[in-house]
Amino acid sequence: MSAIFGELLTFPQENGPDVRLRVFGDERYARYENVDGYTAVYDEALGRFCYAAMPGNRLISTGEPIEGPPPPGVVRHLQESLAARRAKTEEREMLHHPPEAEAFERVVRTFGPNQGLLAGRQLSIGRVQGLTILVNFQDVASSTTAADVDAMLNADDYTRNGNVASARQYFLRVSNGMLDYTNTVVGPFTLSRNRRDYVNTLLVEEALRLAVASGVDLRRFDSRGEGIVDALNILYAGQSLYQGNLWPHNSFINVRAGGVRTNLYLLTGLGRDPSDLSIGTFCHENGHLLCRFPDMYDYGSRDDDEQDSSGIGYYCLMGAGNHLDGGRSPAPVCAYLRDLAGWVGTVVDLNAPGVHAAEAGRYDVAFKFRTSRPNEYFLVENRMRVGLDRAGSSSGLAVYHCDILGSNELQQGTADRHYQCALLQADGRRDLEADPSLGNPGDGGDLFGPMGGVVLSSMSTPHSREWDGRESGLILSDVEIDGDLIRFRVGERAASQVVRGEQATEARIPDNTTAGVSSVIPIAASGVVRRIKVDLEIRHPFIGDLVVELLAPSAARAVLHSRQGGSKDDLIAAFDSDRPGELAAMLGQPIRGNWTLRVADRARRDVGRLVRWSLEIETASS
Ligand SMILES: [Zn+2]
Repeated sequence: MSAIFGELLTFPQENGPDVRLRVFGDERYARYENVDGYTAVYDEALGRFCYAAMPGNRLISTGEPIEGPPPPGVVRHLQESLAARRAKTEEREMLHHPPEAEAFERVVRTFGPNQGLLAGRQLSIGRVQGLTILVNFQDVASSTTAADVDAMLNADDYTRNGNVASARQYFLRVSNGMLDYTNTVVGPFTLSRNRRDYVNTLLVEEALRLAVASGVDLRRFDSRGEGIVDALNILYAGQSLYQGNLWPHNSFINVRAGGVRTNLYLLTGLGRDPSDLSIGTFCHENGHLLCRFPDMYDYGSRDDDEQDSSGIGYYCLMGAGNHLDGGRSPAPVCAYLRDLAGWVGTVVDLNAPGVHAAEAGRYDVAFKFRTSRPNEYFLVENRMRVGLDRAGSSSGLAVYHCDILGSNELQQGTADRHYQCALLQADGRRDLEADPSLGNPGDGGDLFGPMGGVVLSSMSTPHSREWDGRESGLILSDVEIDGDLIRFRVGERAASQVVRGEQATEARIPDNTTAGVSSVIPIAASGVVRRIKVDLEIRHPFIGDLVVELLAPSAARAVLHSRQGGSKDDLIAAFDSDRPGELAAMLGQPIRGNWTLRVADRARRDVGRLVRWSLEIETASS
């Protein structure tokens, strides 16, 4: 399923010019507003979007075209009642899920009744051959060819339009080579009617019949010999139309041909031309189709929960991550779902205390901390902004609180109402759980960066307690970044050791230069900074001329003094990372190597000297 949260999109009208409308909803229920915030409905009789009114509990057309001035009496942001929305949603569900679909319950959900996954056939391991059918309408055709789509779905090094990879390569990477999903692309075939006619009539069966009539043998797509087509994708000409039966979705359809029947299918727009091709939505929807992944974002009104939130937001293909970079750099499938799909070859046990190293892009490894219940656990993952995470909102270590009995509809975070995969946001802000108008689906404060000391425990914010509040015992500390590797410690915090260094330099500070004078203290010990203190003594008649910086071996930089103090004499000061301020940037930095103090006199005339400075670093004892 693909939901839209207030995006401004273009809509064709039968009897009018294209209009720009803001969209809220998904393929089951959606509301449209013009840029001034007036609700619009499509008036089939007029063939135009019109201002909406609501004499009863349902929106109706006023007959006044939405591009014109608002008729008297209409109000902004007009919304149907919850009951009316729910009734309409159920009507559409019945359309999408005919009775014989009961076996699969609802095709898409945020709750996975099957050990965290959706019910139905899982095709997440092995070679799977999908059938992709391109169709044009009588009035709308795409200049995108089958070869263009074939490349996007199957090519080895696909980077067209800035896509990170083809869909096949995407699944090969996130599945650690366990899912080899290729597609046969046929068409484009031309449907019998204009595009608008398919807003109310599902085009899937007609498209399939055209393909079969052209000689496509559906048995080729039944990798298990069960008489079922594994994956069916229908891509229609033009951009995705977020309206009625053309709203991109995946669902179930039972069409028989050549002794096999169809099962789950994806329907989405192909785009106007090849420059619109991106893999994001295709991979997301096939995550449902093949792997039975549930949605990892919040539908806003389901499972008796009316409050909206972002679920896992941009941090997974099955959240909003499929939309990153316009769908060209979809987020990887998160460790939680990769583990459920059986794609993880190595599960590192975090219940054993010690230091672990997580490598970016190693999708065959998962770091798991078990709790007192089998369904609830924590996962830790390197999500540095590289590779498939190149468009990520943040860079660092991700910690997920998982429960296969949870649902990403439930942002409350209580014992009985909580996400199935919640990202513990390092900044403690819970923006993902907030209403999207207040929070966000991802920002720079979400992942754990380099930090000495305890970053996550039962007492910290965020905390590692279980959903019912009991202590899980997970203590995570000393996060260190080393290239694409993130080292972190789990278990009891290791005892500290303190290393010191001092330089009694008596170095003259050159007058009015940016380079200034530098002094080095080498540290041989290894570890990361838990706490750091700097003492310095500079003799100078006008400390307002001075800029004093500390540079770590990792090139991290802290400005200790930046031209404050005016004509005051001498800078004799002590700095401590335990106090908020200059040295915060040093926490978590590797300590081994040369620490450099740089003092520059940025004005002419008054001169001084660096007398001495010292360094005291607390780190975990190795
Ligand atoms: Zn979905």
